[in-house]
Amino acid sequence: MFALRHTCSVLSFCPMAISRIQRKEPAVVPTKTARESDAFEQSLRPKVITDYVGQGEMKGHLLVHMEAARKRKEPMGHTLLHGSPGLGKTTLAHIIGNEMGAQIRVTSGPAIEKPGDLASLLTNLEAGDVLFIDEIHRMRPVIEEVLYSAMEDYALDLVIGKGPTARSMRLDLKPFTLIGATTKVGSISAPLRDRFPHVFKLSFYTRIEMEQIVERTAGILGIKLDERVAHYIAGCCRSTPRVANRLVRSVRDFAQVSNESTVSMSRIQSTLEALGIDDVGLDRTDRLILSSIIEKFGGGPVGLSTLAAATAEEEEALEDVYEPYLMQQGYLQRTPKGRAATKLAYDLLGIQMSEQLQQQLI
Ligand code: ADP
Repeated sequence: MFALRHTCSVLSFCPMAISRIQRKEPAVVPTKTARESDAFEQSLRPKVITDYVGQGEMKGHLLVHMEAARKRKEPMGHTLLHGSPGLGKTTLAHIIGNEMGAQIRVTSGPAIEKPGDLASLLTNLEAGDVLFIDEIHRMRPVIEEVLYSAMEDYALDLVIGKGPTARSMRLDLKPFTLIGATTKVGSISAPLRDRFPHVFKLSFYTRIEMEQIVERTAGILGIKLDERVAHYIAGCCRSTPRVANRLVRSVRDFAQVSNESTVSMSRIQSTLEALGIDDVGLDRTDRLILSSIIEKFGGGPVGLSTLAAATAEEEEALEDVYEPYLMQQGYLQRTPKGRAATKLAYDLLGIQMSEQLQQQLI
């Protein structure tokens, strides 16, 4: 009912949205792929699940759900993927579409400005299509409500017109799969989250998995890496495939400019040094975050906004991009009072931890 009322007010003020629905044209919303238009990332994206490295448990579950859906001749259930940036959420959404023989439509939470945009996207879906919404946590609540009946009943409840002449109508949608991706699962409202039968968390990759990804990327980019070199690069990629791709590309560029046909260990080390990446894979910003906590705030705890101001980074970047890996590696702790550096962080930066702090940690 809430969704119905809401959709009413929006569509009644949104003639463009209605006319788009009637004409069945796709909404003009920028998509991640269109925005990035990055042929490089596209070319490296695994297309089938067997080429998707790691995340074994999740892949096992997905294979079952896809097979079951195929047997029932239905689209797979709506799926929410969450995890840090670059871990493979978008890639997986494309793989699901591909494996299910479905068309995939790509958009993102902030790109959907009006409920009419979403309604237009939904009414243009063919049976079995996959709608991928990246950064779904950034979708406005008024838009989110349009999704509820679409996800539950494959229907859109619309009210056309205003006042006493208003008419309500239900528009049937073709059965589809919604795949949502987010770096902040905690920011997704309970009603939306509850409508996803499948929720998967993507984890950071192990060194062996990263090595496979590095070798795969190097193979596609046509560069030769020996095992020792691939192993070394794999340790400097923040356990994240997107970082691996970028590192391998940089290494290739540095090697090509120097006319080297195979990439040597010293070439890797000099490239990483030029990029400001150390041998545990931390970059300048990671180290700045840790050193700021230690040197400016006595090791912490320090609040997110203060830390953001001290490092000249955005709070969102700190939370979504930097902190998850620093915490996973044991350099940073999030406490109720704020962020604190661990003993490992002191050791990494070669700073002596005071006796008093060490006692507090025990
Ligand atoms: P996210 O959507 O989580 O930010 P992407 O799916 O865009 O991450 O992944 C970034 C890149 O990393 C992809 O283009 C792909 O080349 C690579 N990648 C991600 N996950 C994997 C994986 N499991 N195996 C191989 N390559 C991967």
